[in-house]
Amino acid sequence: MRLVVVGAAGRMGRMLIRAIDQAEGCRLVAAVERPGAASIGEDAGLLAGLPPLGVAMTDDAPAAFAAADGVLDFTAPDATVAFADLAAQARILHVVGTTGLEPAHLARLAAAATHTPIIRSGNMSLGVNLLAALVRKVAATLGTDWDIEIVEMHHRMKVDAPSGTAVLLGEAAAEGRAVDLAQQRVAGRDGITGARAPGMIGFAALRGGTVVGDHKVIFAGAGERLELAHVAEDRSLFAQGAVKAALWGRGRAPGLYSMADVLGLDT
Ligand code: NAP
Repeated sequence: MRLVVVGAAGRMGRMLIRAIDQAEGCRLVAAVERPGAASIGEDAGLLAGLPPLGVAMTDDAPAAFAAADGVLDFTAPDATVAFADLAAQARILHVVGTTGLEPAHLARLAAAATHTPIIRSGNMSLGVNLLAALVRKVAATLGTDWDIEIVEMHHRMKVDAPSGTAVLLGEAAAEGRAVDLAQQRVAGRDGITGARAPGMIGFAALRGGTVVGDHKVIFAGAGERLELAHVAEDRSLFAQGAVKAALWGRGRAPGLYSMADVLGLDT
């Protein structure tokens, strides 16, 4: 499978180049960065800490997509919707790990997914997707007298909050309760907030150091507390998940797919 990495010089981009290099059944055919990026023209393998791969970093995404079967995209929301339009035109699979997507971005992805398969997840790891399935079940079992709070911590360079994974877990909790997360969500409390409203799903985001990603979902009842947690120790697991998603998605019908679909999790 011929794969393109966009945002190839980023933290995840370099991981994706390494994951493709290690995986069977796929190869890197292009590595894209934005026009004017310092890395344009460099060998993508060298950039990722590998021996040369003979693939020069490029800013010509349309040409790269025209000669590929799929694109792996861990960039930024505005870039991702632009890449979704290009992937739809080229009719190639689009794997999206970018987080911080707003409803308008998601609508653009849904439109692109009528032409080509898109696999999107705020977290590509097996552990977090299993955790989401557990959270959905626990939330469905416990009543709203159990308060749900989601705490996450990430490295100091992360630009969006709450994390895509925290939102994924919040959505799982909301689905378990059969409510709409947008109506129940409370994030970033500060000052005189008043007492906690029943049924809300709370988010708290910590930032610092080089933390890859810690998430805890707390169900707080009267006199007891249930805590479900996941710790990501190495970002390569997200890249390996994205490559796995690409290989799974090859030849699929157009549409929006999740990592739970890829992993065959019964959600
Ligand atoms: P990063 O180091 O900032 O990398 C993003 C890369 O995308 C940068 O090289 C950036 O270039 C490039 N980019 C942005 N706009 C572009 C455009 N229009 N054309 C080409 N390249 C463009 O960030 P990161 O830590 O790798 O994270 C990237 C995204 O993945 C974030 O949304 C993060 O939350 C998400 N993520 C998801 C998972 C998951 O499992 N789903 C796991 C980890 C991270 P510039 O520096 O020039 O802007």
